[in-house]
Amino acid sequence: MGKVLIIGAGGVSGVVVHKCAQHPEVFGEIVLASRTKSKCDAIAAQLKRPIKTVQVDADNVPELVALIKKEKPDLVLNVALPYQDLHIMDACLETGVNYLDTANYEPEDTAKFEYSWQWAYQERFKKAGIMALLGSGFDPGVTSVFCTYIQKHYLDEIHTIDIIDVNAGDHGYPFATNFNPEINIREVTAKGRYWEKGEWKETAPLSVKHPFKVPENIGNPNIYLMYHEELESLAKHIPHLKRARFWMSFGDSYLKHLEVLGNVGMTRIDEVEFNGQKIVPLQFLRALLPDPASLGPRTKGKTWIGCQVTGIKNGEKKTVTVYNICDHQECYREVQSQAISYTTGVPAMIGAKLMMSGIWKGQGVFNMEQQDPDPFMDELNRCGLPWKVIEQAVIDLG
Ligand code: NDP
Repeated sequence: MGKVLIIGAGGVSGVVVHKCAQHPEVFGEIVLASRTKSKCDAIAAQLKRPIKTVQVDADNVPELVALIKKEKPDLVLNVALPYQDLHIMDACLETGVNYLDTANYEPEDTAKFEYSWQWAYQERFKKAGIMALLGSGFDPGVTSVFCTYIQKHYLDEIHTIDIIDVNAGDHGYPFATNFNPEINIREVTAKGRYWEKGEWKETAPLSVKHPFKVPENIGNPNIYLMYHEELESLAKHIPHLKRARFWMSFGDSYLKHLEVLGNVGMTRIDEVEFNGQKIVPLQFLRALLPDPASLGPRTKGKTWIGCQVTGIKNGEKKTVTVYNICDHQECYREVQSQAISYTTGVPAMIGAKLMMSGIWKGQGVFNMEQQDPDPFMDELNRCGLPWKVIEQAVIDLG
């Protein structure tokens, strides 16, 4: 039985806290700390068992260190924003406590995310004898585990990976994002990027698309080529890999709004002068948009997220697809959240559970594909995100 310190009290955090609370044999004590304590208290009030809530500014390393020293957790689970990653890792290093997150660091003033900043902690974490698990959400997270599961059980060599993320849910708003609007819009408006034959290729934002008839009648959306952070770590860690791409579905209404908001400058991340005050347009937009944590009761439909992987088995070419389907309303009934937060929060809890049980272990900084996929895949089935394997392609992406 251990103690977890969860940082951040947004949409994903709500799910993580619910799911950790369901496993008292591992998470004997739960401390939830965030910038706004009332949000921690609101999550705590949804639970059947008591947890402790605390106010903390995760950008203030001494404040974090003091909190970690006082609470003495076995693991710090970071579900604040990517901007906080390095500060929380610094506090973990100083206190000698294991670390887990769901999204890689990005600096607030540049819409750029890459692992270099966090991989740079490798030697320091190793020397301190502690572990950092990076990207234990769904994508990144489960998608990497799906790939290593296929590598372990179905293929001798992986040659191509296509990660496909479909949200066929509907929240009824003309425009809203399913996770933090600022992070979401920064990601979606970035250039597309994929890995091919040892180098990165760039495409204009959302310029490459394919229609996709999603298995099991989930929907018929267009999926768009995007850059996503697990491509970077998969390209580094999967041997023989020739190409890795990431695709995400978007509805026409979402894209139309995004285009207009971009055209009028509302997605800018630099400061502008307004009424004698400096504001960042994207942060202002965030204040106007629905809070993702409030979408739960109104979102209907399903998500489909999977990896279509090709390679060779016994000298023959073979394609294998692993996917999960998640129902927004079922998630809401279980943990009062929509499926995007659910599909992120459940893997974060599972990563923490495996680390705290000593099943996933190591010293240094790890991406998901560097650990044994089997225990994680078993936990997905047990904890609300069951998956299927089919030994065929689901789409021809060329
Ligand atoms: P939210 O914006 O809903 O929640 C973020 C929380 O972090 C808020 O409670 C916020 O506080 C808190 N926070 C922000 N800054 C600080 C700070 N300096 N100190 C303490 N707390 C702080 O985001 P989501 O829940 O939607 O996303 C959480 C994380 O999950 C993000 O990093 C996101 O990128 C990641 N994610 C990963 C996915 C995956 O599959 N891997 C998918 C979706 C999300 P306040 O309430 O005061 O604003």
